Amino acid sequence: MSWDVVIGIETHVQLQTKTKIFSGASTAFGAEPNTQACILSIALPGTLPVLNYEAVQCAIKFGLATNAEIASRSIFARKNYFYPDLPKGYQISQYELPVVGKGSLEIEIGDIKKTVRITRAHLEEDAGKSSHGAVQNGTGIDLNRAGTPLLEIVSEPDMTSAAEAVAYAKKLHELVQWIGICDGNMQEGSFRCDINVSVKRAGTDKLGTRREIKNLNSFKFIEQAIHAETQWQIEMLEEGKTIQQATVLFNPETGETRAMRSKEEANDYRYFPDPDLLPLEISDEKINQIKESMTELPHLMKARLERDYQLSSYDASGITSDKHVADYFFATLKEGVEPKQIANWILGQLFSKLNEHNLSIEHSPIKPQVLSLLLKRIQDGTISNNGAKQLFEKLWTNSDLEIDALIESEGLKQVSDSGLIETMIDEVLKNNQTMVDEYRSGKEKAFNALVGQIMKASKGKANPGQVNELLRKKLS
Ligand code: ADP
Ligand code: MG
Repeated sequence: MSWDVVIGIETHVQLQTKTKIFSGASTAFGAEPNTQACILSIALPGTLPVLNYEAVQCAIKFGLATNAEIASRSIFARKNYFYPDLPKGYQISQYELPVVGKGSLEIEIGDIKKTVRITRAHLEEDAGKSSHGAVQNGTGIDLNRAGTPLLEIVSEPDMTSAAEAVAYAKKLHELVQWIGICDGNMQEGSFRCDINVSVKRAGTDKLGTRREIKNLNSFKFIEQAIHAETQWQIEMLEEGKTIQQATVLFNPETGETRAMRSKEEANDYRYFPDPDLLPLEISDEKINQIKESMTELPHLMKARLERDYQLSSYDASGITSDKHVADYFFATLKEGVEPKQIANWILGQLFSKLNEHNLSIEHSPIKPQVLSLLLKRIQDGTISNNGAKQLFEKLWTNSDLEIDALIESEGLKQVSDSGLIETMIDEVLKNNQTMVDEYRSGKEKAFNALVGQIMKASKGKANPGQVNELLRKKLS
């Protein structure tokens, strides 16, 4: 009997504001514990929240980027629960009326495109952190993170495999960085996913009971956790047991998911509108203003790269996966250099080098102007593709080297002197009469074999384009 997997994802995106969502305390990561815990963060009685407009702007940008409804009026609510890292005894969040409503995100799994519906995205504050073992014989509470602005993005249960879930999480991760609302640093917890998983009999409509895997902060863990959880649920059901709705944790060391608590219901939280905060009102004018300030969205840029520069869908996806990569691409684009060739070099040679050295493209020692010149020298026939790869290696460790001088000193200049090439061709033709006869009797393969011989005679330095052209002429 086979089973269908159903997945919905809640993502907590830490917004890139300088200060907290309801106070002026800094949000910078990594400070000494409690040095960024202002009177609001520690919930001194009598302190009042003031909404940070920058956080609202981030939410609006996200709404615009996912083609979502942006509420002209939304409400902040108190979500009540007790936890040591939440001194107020409630978290300020949004419940019935979130700032961002229904939207969507298109994902790609190989060649297949799929639209994942977004249910809502709401603004809320983060809690503090309990640090077990940070103090002797006890747990330390660090309230630096308390009040950091979050956008919680909730998807519909539209994903049907771990691959789709990872594609969605990656796409969302790319998007929030592209529009500049999140630094995307998953290790620091700036982007974390709760993955809801259920299974049902293949082909049936009724959804099974979900379990929610909390707080995954790597794509690898998302994939592993879904596999482990799916397998566990299927085993349970096949043994005739039922699934209890629960919140579970994934342990990367054992590769298992384990129930942490049975699932709480919304009414357990006693949500109610926060009397300290006015409804959030957003005018169409404001939305339009923000819309105009935004850079071209990645999916639109991707379409433009395919249309205007004839990039393949794969290449265009790669170039628009990150704003800095796109910037690099456009900075390399100069007259006389093929866009397709630039994309190949960025996604191939450059990416593998950057990966190897764990560098982001902004810190590439080879700058766009240098790559541009290098590719130009391939295009104008000065060097071969292989020659360019050798130069690329040299330039990686010393980007001050002057390309044309380097071509000379490395002896990588192709022979483009037609007189010289013709002499080589004559020599090769004289010594390979059988191949010539074969070509003349219609065997195209023989032509390539002759080109190979000529390239060999030139020690790989003859310009292949010219060799082809001149040989064709000689044999015609
Ligand atoms: P809660 O806060 O109780 O987790 P939310 O409505 O915020 O509830 O989020 C529920 C998440 O679970 C959504 O992402 C939704 O798509 C997903 N979901 C709901 N039902 C199922 C199901 N049967 N299987 C998998 N995911 C589900
Ligand atoms: Mg949830």
